[in-house]
This record gives sequence, C-alpha cells and structure tokens, in this order.
Amino acid sequence: MTSYSTFRFELGDDGVALVTLDVPGSSANVIGDALRADLDALIQHVRDDAAIKGVVVTSAKSDFMAGGDLKAMVQLFSKPHTADEAFAIATQFQPTLRRLETSGKPWAAAINGPAMGGGLELALACHYRVAADSPKVQLALPEATLALMPGAGGTQRLPRLIGVAKALPLMLKGTRLSAQEALALDLVQSIAPSENIVNVARRWILERGEAVQPWDKKGFQIPGGGGFSTTELGQLYNLTATQISRDTNHNQPAPIALLNAVARGTAVPIDAGLHIEACNFAKLVLNPVARNTVRTLFLHKGEIDKLVRRPKGIPSANYTRIGVIGAGLMGGGLANSAAAAGIDVVLLDATLAQAEAAKTRLSADFAKRIAKGRMKQDKADALLARIHPAGDYAALSDCQLVIEAVFEDVAVKRDVFRKAAAVMAPGAILASNTSTLPISELAEGLAHPDRFIGLHFFSPVDRMPLVEIIVGKGTSDATLAESLDLVKALRKTPIVVNDSRGFFTSRVISAYIQEAFAMVGEGLAPALIDNAAKMAGFPVGPLAMMDDIGMDNGYKATMTEREVLGSAWRPSAGFVVQEMFCTTLDRRGRRQGAGFYDYENDKRKPWAGLAEVFTPEAGTANIDELKQRLLFIEALEAARCMEEGVITDAAEGDVGSVLGIGYPSYTGGVFSLIDTTGTRAFVEACDKLADRFGERYRPSAWLRERAERNELFFPLSMAA
Ligand code: NAD
Repeated sequence: MTSYSTFRFELGDDGVALVTLDVPGSSANVIGDALRADLDALIQHVRDDAAIKGVVVTSAKSDFMAGGDLKAMVQLFSKPHTADEAFAIATQFQPTLRRLETSGKPWAAAINGPAMGGGLELALACHYRVAADSPKVQLALPEATLALMPGAGGTQRLPRLIGVAKALPLMLKGTRLSAQEALALDLVQSIAPSENIVNVARRWILERGEAVQPWDKKGFQIPGGGGFSTTELGQLYNLTATQISRDTNHNQPAPIALLNAVARGTAVPIDAGLHIEACNFAKLVLNPVARNTVRTLFLHKGEIDKLVRRPKGIPSANYTRIGVIGAGLMGGGLANSAAAAGIDVVLLDATLAQAEAAKTRLSADFAKRIAKGRMKQDKADALLARIHPAGDYAALSDCQLVIEAVFEDVAVKRDVFRKAAAVMAPGAILASNTSTLPISELAEGLAHPDRFIGLHFFSPVDRMPLVEIIVGKGTSDATLAESLDLVKALRKTPIVVNDSRGFFTSRVISAYIQEAFAMVGEGLAPALIDNAAKMAGFPVGPLAMMDDIGMDNGYKATMTEREVLGSAWRPSAGFVVQEMFCTTLDRRGRRQGAGFYDYENDKRKPWAGLAEVFTPEAGTANIDELKQRLLFIEALEAARCMEEGVITDAAEGDVGSVLGIGYPSYTGGVFSLIDTTGTRAFVEACDKLADRFGERYRPSAWLRERAERNELFFPLSMAA
C-alpha cells in the first residue's frame, strides 16, 4: 500500500480510491511542498494502477482545503527574483492540477468544509464536486482581497464552468459562497448531508465516471462566450477596468492581473489560458505589493491577534463587567463593542440623564440598522440589556476594568480618575482612551499607577479594528496582559507602544494632517491635496477628513502641547494654517458649514475665498510629489517613533498604521514603505524634500546610519 504524508489513501474493493487530506502539523490543509509532491505522486499512481477506477478527495480536518501557505509565500516573494524564477513560482502547483484533470480517471471532490483559494482550485480541477449541506461550507477564490490572484487554474476553470460574467466579480471580490449558492451557480453538481458526501462522490464515479473536463471536449463553448467574443464581454472588461481604477487608483496590480488573465485566457484553449494565468501571477511575484499586503494584513496581524506581546505567566482575565466613563462618541461606541462581546457595561456620565441619552442614541442607531435588515431585534435587545447607564460612581464598584472617555483635558480626566479609584474594587484596572495625553502624566497622583494603562480605541469604535495600548512608566506587566485579554475579547487587534505625547498613531497621522495644512499654506487647492492623498491610496483626503471631524480638538491639543512644553515647543509645518482656520478665518469644519471647503445643504464645494488668503501656487502641481510627501512624512514620523522607542516592533507599526489611521494597505504600512523604497533611497528622497519644503523632512542620524548599512525593518532572512 502506497503511503503519503499529507493525506490518507485507501483503495476500496469497488476500485474507488479515497484520498483524505490531513496535512500534519497544521490546523488547516495548506498547500506546501509536501502536499504538492504527494499529489504529483498520487496522480502518477492513479494513472498507472489499472485497479483504480477513480478518486474521491475529501478532508479529515474541518476545512476541505485552506489554500496556499501564506507564510511560505511571503518568504518566497521576499527574495529578489528574475522573470524566469517568478514564472517558476507561478507554475509550482498549476501543472499538477492540469495533470490531475487529464489523468484519464474520474476525480470527485467531496467538499466537507471551507474550500478556499487553492482548495477550491483543486476541487475545480476535479470532474465532479459535491458539497456538504452545512453552514460551514464556504467556497471562494479570495486571493484578490490579499493583493494576489488565483494561480492554480482558478482564473481559467471558474469562467469556463459558470461563465465569465459570473466568475469575474466572484474572484475580484473574493465572495464566499455557501453550498446552496454554489449549487445554484453550477459550481458544484450536488449537495448532500455531510456524512453522505463521500458516498455520493463514490457513486458518481461508479455510475457516471466522466474523466474529461467540459473544456477538454471538442466544440466546447464557455457559457456566454469567452475572451472578446461578444460585445457584452468587451463592455464588461471595460467597465471592470474602470471600476478597478476608480477603487484602487492604480495602486493594486492584482485585480488588473486577474482581469487580464480572465479576458485573455478565455479567448484561447485551456492550456494557453493557464499559461496566461501563470504570466500574470508571475508579475505579482515581481511586485512588492502582494508580499507587503500579505505580510502585514495576514501574517503580522495574525501573530498580533494571538497576543505575541502578552507578558508570560500571567493568568488570563475573563471579563464579565467593565465600566466606561464618558458616554459620548467614544464611550457609546465602547459600550456597544463590549456588549457585543457579551460583556456587561456600566456607562457613566456626569449625570444619569446624559448616560441614558447615550443608550437611547445607541438604541436609535440599532433601530435604523434593523429597518435596513442589517440587525435582528433580539440581538439589539440583548446588547441594550448589557448596557447599564449610571450617574453615580458607586456603580463602578464591581467592574473589573474601568475605561475613561471624557473630554481630552488633563484636569477633567484626573478628577474622574480620583472619583473612580475611590470606589473601584482592589486590583481592578483603570484605563484612559486619551488619543494624545501622556499616560505617565495622567497617572500622577494615582494610588495604583501599576494598574493604570492607555487603551486608545479609534472612531467609530464598532468598526475600527485597532486598539493602541500605551504602557506608562508605572504600568505593570499584569495590567498589560489583562488589558490585552480585553482587546482580544472585543475581537480587536492590539499594538503595544510606549508612552509619548500622541503615542504612535496620533503622532504619525498628525504629521500627515500638518503636511496637508502646510500645502494649503503653499497655495495648493484643498481638492488637489485631497485628490493626491486618494491617489496615493489613503481612504479619504486629509482636509475633507478634518472638515468632517472638526478642527477644534486638534487645535486644542496643539495649544495644550504648547502650554506644557513652553519654550521647548516648536510649531509644526501646518500650524499657521491650522491657527488661521481656527481663529481669524473661523472656519472650523463641516458642522459650521465652513472649513477648507464650503458646505451647502451638507454638500462639499470649493471655498471661493481661499485664493484671497493664500496666493495660489503658480504652474502645475506635481501630483507624484504630493503623493510622495504625504506617504513619506508619515513613514518618517514612524521612524522617529522607532528611534525614540515609542514603537518597538516594525510589524506592529505596519499593522497599526494600516488598521488604525488608514495608511494605504498596498504599501504594507509605514515601515514596509521604507523597506520597499530602500532605506538609502528613502533617506535621499527625504533630503531632497527637506531642501525644498523644510527641515521636517531631514532624516535623523539614526535613520542615516541605517541607510548606510542598508538596514531593513524586515530583513529578508526573517521576512515572515
Ligand atoms: P465626546 O465629547 O463625544 O464625549 C465626552 C463625554 O464625556 C461626554 O458625554 C461628556 O458628557 C462626558 N464627560 C465630560 N466630563 C465628564 C465628567 N467629569 N464625568 C463624566 N462624564 C464626563 O468625546 P469623544 O470624542 O468621545 O472623546 C472622548 C475621549 O476619547 C477623549 O479623550 C478623546 O481624545 C478620545 N478619543 C477620541 C476619538 C475620536 O475620534 N472622537 C478617538 C480616539 C480617542
């Protein structure tokens, strides 16, 4: 009996071989060298052994197959490659599946659980697919959502099976299909109860046993046509290309490569189509975007979510009741998120009526979601039942952790801490959601600074995935560990930073906003600056964003900083503009109907008076330079944070910048941007910008030394 390391092979008396995938040492069936080698050997074995009538492939794990090993992929993509090497990487698995479907024997996939990416591609190469009638079954080619594209025939087989018009959006969006949806699309031929799928597949082999794919039969036509055979398809490609450009501003190579593979690959026979797919995949291997995106959003985020920074040996905290002080925008959001995680929340404001009003606002928000069919009444009721408004601090006495989200004012916060600390249970954690104020300063006067920590959530709390945890001078390891447990319970991603005014994320995003203010001062139109930001990949322009948030809080924070730092305070690049808009011009944002733009009936329009205040810059603006300035100024500030020890781990900096402050994900984050540019090239470019726009761009000696050594934040040897 032949044995394989990544699956069980059992040949039945009826001549049907049952292959049960079970990749060792991994909770999911991921495609690696061992599985590829096993499959190659299996295909040969099936071809050669006349006793084998056909093969049923299923899985011993809860998933059918999870797809490629992304960790190995990041390592592989990190090394510089020639075009030939990239093509070799692109054809690591694809020919195996072609051999499988042309082996002359029928193959059937019995899909017991999620079949994602390469997993679905394996199933598509089989001649028959039956899926378990279970909510656990999901079928998707999600590669494009990770800046990749299917590379094992998916871009060729899916359109040939269900038509280009249906296949293209499924792959571009990475849509996850249920078993029923897959059946309706003819992506699987049948569904059956989980315990029956192997029998159904086995019966199909014995009774029908078709060993030739439709696309290998003479006269095969793709449903709805392929390539450029109809006007509708031509229009579909044009429209899709336009949508991709609009959504990605040409920053994402993957969707275009995918579109190319489908449009061109379906114009020719399957083998040529597979070659076209591989050529397009190879282009992605040569481009840093796929590696950077997967490394940050999949590998590093995955490690951070497993709480790699949690101090060891401290028992994990299980939260059942927390307190939130300040029932405003952030406090309401915090209460909502905690309730959603099954935690009871005491929501306290200056008066009970204010706290109750916050709960009423949440309830109204839920009602809107229910009306739109996005929430169920019983879920809303359950959440609201966990939120307990209060006006009296005594209500906090049985909370395991209390987080403050009152006004950004040291005196107000200290007053709140004093009152909370007086009633809180011994050992309970006190946290602040401040976005700028140094935690160690806030901790002054507290009896238990070891139990005090910064938990910086982002707005809107229910949708923003990041929490920046700020460790103060006195914060204990246990407090950090237990705070990480809370963030995990809230299903958010924590980064851990050291104390500094503005910490990491607020410092980095402030540099970007200040740069945009400075550009206004240079006479550039706000719409031009905002469009440059969007073209660089930021989700919103900095000036439109500031108009939406309102300039008051930022200006107040700057004023506080000036007061605290005294003669050591230095105005930032955009301070003059910020001050003018907040004082003499009195244009503080959308709520006032006037900011960098005018607002009429809530519609944004250019402000005609701008040219009278700031002389418009002569000549044409260099959009590439504006994009570079906005991207680089954040990366430079991030590097300063690293130099000062505010952030200690580049992976956290990358994840924090993408998830917390909208740094474009295609870059992989602030530190990946420097690595991808090349530290030397980055420093040289910053020097040039410093010569033209000011010393804020001048790299520090620390960064210069790194550049001289060409030191990377993610050395290639430990890229993953
Ligand atoms: P907000 O003005 O919406 O809410 C503040 C709430 O605190 C109000 O309901 C107010 O009544 C209450 N409050 C004020 N003084 C109080 C006191 N002495 N006792 C009890 N309640 C009191 O403000 P916000 O936007 O929710 O911000 C709150 C905190 O969160 C600030 O420190 C801010 O820097 C931080 N933060 C805000 C954002 C954001 O985007 N808004 C993001 C991250 C962090």
